[in-house]
Amino acid sequence: MNNSQSFVLVLNCGSSSLKFAVIDPVSGDEALTGLAECLGNLDARISWKLDGKKSEEALAPGGAHREAIEFLVDLIQKHGLDKGLIAVGHRVVQGAERFTKSVLIDKEVVDGIKAISNLAILHNPANLMGVHAAQRAFPKLPQVAVFDTAFHQTMPDHAYMYALPKDLYTRYGIRRYGAHGTSHFYVASEAACILGKPLEETNVITAHLGNGASVCAVKNGKSVDTSMGMTPLEGLVMGTRSGDIDPSIPDFLATNGYSPQEVNTILNRQSGLLGISGLSNDFRTILKGCDEGHKGALLAYEMFCYRLAKYIAGYMIPLQRIDALVFTGGIGENSFPMRKRVMELLAVFGYQLDEEANRKAMGSTGGQISTPDSPMVLVIPTNEEWVIAKEAAALAKNG
Ligand code: ADP
Repeated sequence: MNNSQSFVLVLNCGSSSLKFAVIDPVSGDEALTGLAECLGNLDARISWKLDGKKSEEALAPGGAHREAIEFLVDLIQKHGLDKGLIAVGHRVVQGAERFTKSVLIDKEVVDGIKAISNLAILHNPANLMGVHAAQRAFPKLPQVAVFDTAFHQTMPDHAYMYALPKDLYTRYGIRRYGAHGTSHFYVASEAACILGKPLEETNVITAHLGNGASVCAVKNGKSVDTSMGMTPLEGLVMGTRSGDIDPSIPDFLATNGYSPQEVNTILNRQSGLLGISGLSNDFRTILKGCDEGHKGALLAYEMFCYRLAKYIAGYMIPLQRIDALVFTGGIGENSFPMRKRVMELLAVFGYQLDEEANRKAMGSTGGQISTPDSPMVLVIPTNEEWVIAKEAAALAKNG
């Protein structure tokens, strides 16, 4: 780090976790990255990487976001990173129709995020905890909210509406909002650079495949459809989320004695790869299970690939012309067998895999994995933190 370097502290608060990074918004260099986990529990802890060295410490038992941020502030000050800090960027999951782009946080914005928290009961309150803790810790720094939904606000109404009575949309805001917007935007922009085209003229399908997973159709640089819905539960088979199911299943379960809470837990935490395989939500364990012939793992794997391929095929409709298909996220960046299977399923559209390039595209390498005759397929490591840092730095400068 040199003395003139500027940094943004990026915070991503979950209900019991806090991911953080101190990033140079210009170069994307990460001076510090880390994760506080099990917040509010007896085994609350924090781990971080600084100057290439990994460390971990226990937080006080029951330590929550506030304690984690206090620890983080100490860490930042101890290593002199506070001198270069110019802003704090917060990932906020739900911005609804109110927030179509990133904003500087003031009281009105906090109230706005609170007002739409009913659309993201697990996420927005946690994001606000992070905002309050960071405001206390850094009262002089501009705080910026970057919304996961903002990129998808360009979807046309025929893509974002549900075929429900319109009244439910006007009264409660029930519609599709999508998520992972920062990641879809980032990899679409990177794909445009690789293609040598302006983003505004680029059509791509981006598949963000991590514990949560979604696909996005990007037309002329704008999101025109995405697989997640009003909440992140809709769409693909995920680590523990069901993705698409017949909407009458919750009612069927209710008549069989399941409470709304239990149904919610089943669909969000016990389904997906974990529920089908009975083994794990972790894709590496699923792959290992497949190698060992575990029937549940084999089914979970095939369902994951099949649903993904169906969505990709469906997005040919809004895009008509596709410049590239992009894989990203922990699974998308690393699992070459999954990419191979999905491309086999898409062979009808002319997709052909370069097997060697596919095997080589791991971790932070990325690259093109299609043959020269095939429609282009890219693996691009995502970097949501850098997008948040850039947005926060730009708003801090202008504000
Ligand atoms: P999150 O949504 O929590 O940010 P990530 O993007 O980090 O998730 O992705 C986590 C997923 O990536 C896990 O299912 C994990 O098993 C999978 N993953 C990580 N490395 C590999 C790998 N080498 N091969 C296959 N899957 C991997």
